[in-house]
Amino acid sequence: MKTLCILGSTGSIGVQALEVARKLGLQVIALTAGNNAALLEEQIREFRPSIAALADEKAAADLRVRVADTKTRVLGGAQGIAKCASCGANTVLNAIVGIAGLEPTLHAISAGSDIALANKETLVAGGRLVTDAVREKGVKLLPVDSEHSAIFQAGMPPLAGHASTLAKINSLRPRQKQAADPYVKRLILTASGGPFFGKTRAELEQVTLQDALKHPNWSMGAKITVDSATMFNKGLELIEAVRLFDIPAERIEVVVHRQSVVHSLVEYTDNSVIAQLGVPDMTIPIQYAITYPERHPSPAPQLDLTQYASLTFEEPDDEAFPAVNLARRACKIGGLATAVYNGANEQANEMFRAGEIRFLDITKLVTAAIDAYAAQSISTIGHTLEDVLSIDKWSREFVLSNVGDVALNVPSNININF
Ligand code: NAD
Ligand code: MG
Repeated sequence: MKTLCILGSTGSIGVQALEVARKLGLQVIALTAGNNAALLEEQIREFRPSIAALADEKAAADLRVRVADTKTRVLGGAQGIAKCASCGANTVLNAIVGIAGLEPTLHAISAGSDIALANKETLVAGGRLVTDAVREKGVKLLPVDSEHSAIFQAGMPPLAGHASTLAKINSLRPRQKQAADPYVKRLILTASGGPFFGKTRAELEQVTLQDALKHPNWSMGAKITVDSATMFNKGLELIEAVRLFDIPAERIEVVVHRQSVVHSLVEYTDNSVIAQLGVPDMTIPIQYAITYPERHPSPAPQLDLTQYASLTFEEPDDEAFPAVNLARRACKIGGLATAVYNGANEQANEMFRAGEIRFLDITKLVTAAIDAYAAQSISTIGHTLEDVLSIDKWSREFVLSNVGDVALNVPSNININF
């Protein structure tokens, strides 16, 4: 029986991953979360992992008391999460939100576990740090994000075309521009457009947090729901696809598809296009990442195409939502610009959720951070974990210290040239 460790088990993806584990009868050996001791207690009582951790030390102390009658060992802090990530499960599913997921992913890779990755921020900020570790260790990196799972299922395996041996990896050019599959021409990422699709930039001046949290198709954690409203989620996914499928950003298109039934597509050299479809239900990609290459019945309902009057595809509005083009620009700048994109967005997203800035300020602040990073010429190839964490910190501090200026002074129609 397959063993599973779930990082971020109390979140939207984590809870759905446990639903999959329950249905498949998988053995869950480690669970972690941020600070939700009550829900983690319930999960521990049901799944009986040998180890569990909460990032928040106080909450961990509380949990330790709550489950003192069980055999689960409870740890606290980032070290406790690292210990769980290193437990050697067959698959470690990372459903932590944000850069906090980066180090646990690296620990899980070092321990030789396959990675089912929901935590896209890990790839966006960590980049080759993560993909090189995966290749060196020879573990699998399987996408949970529905778009990337769709691309995978449409015939494009993650990190394919690359050698499984280190010798061959070392002979690769550092900035390989070829797609992993020589017959792949383009990837087409679908985007729901979020709650604000169709609104003009002027209309977006007025939107509130409450409006942003009303996603039309998916029920998700607060951070990614806001990212969907700003389209930063699609920008992050574009960078995630660049990393995962070794394809340059110019060969990735974004199409708005309001119904979220076609989860993404791969276009081949002969203009044949393969798509993956299904109801908008994350248990499908979560389960595929866990059971690959097998398929099993899933908790998700069957797709009934006749229930949809039409499936629509539209061009994104890059003027009202510049986040995708900004992601392309970050890819072009190279180096750690994508870590800046992620770090500045995490900080601005959090401030928007705290009611400290307005909706459009998120894009302004991330743009200003990317501009500031691009103005310095920093070496572009090869970086360590410390480099990534320090640029992440720099990006957050940049946002914090520029919030007054950007929110007050920058005109709302910023031009993004790339
Ligand atoms: P969420 O906020 O619902 O859950 C996040 C989980 O991470 C929780 O268990 C929380 O306790 C834990 N956590 C938060 N901060 C932590 C920290 N500092 N250290 C350790 N654990 C911490 O988020 P979510 O919607 O489940 O998203 C999780 C990840 O999956 C994100 O990267 C998101 O982009 C990605 N994702 C989510 C969906 C979705 O449908 N929700 C779809 C695709 C990708
Ligand atoms: Mg997605």
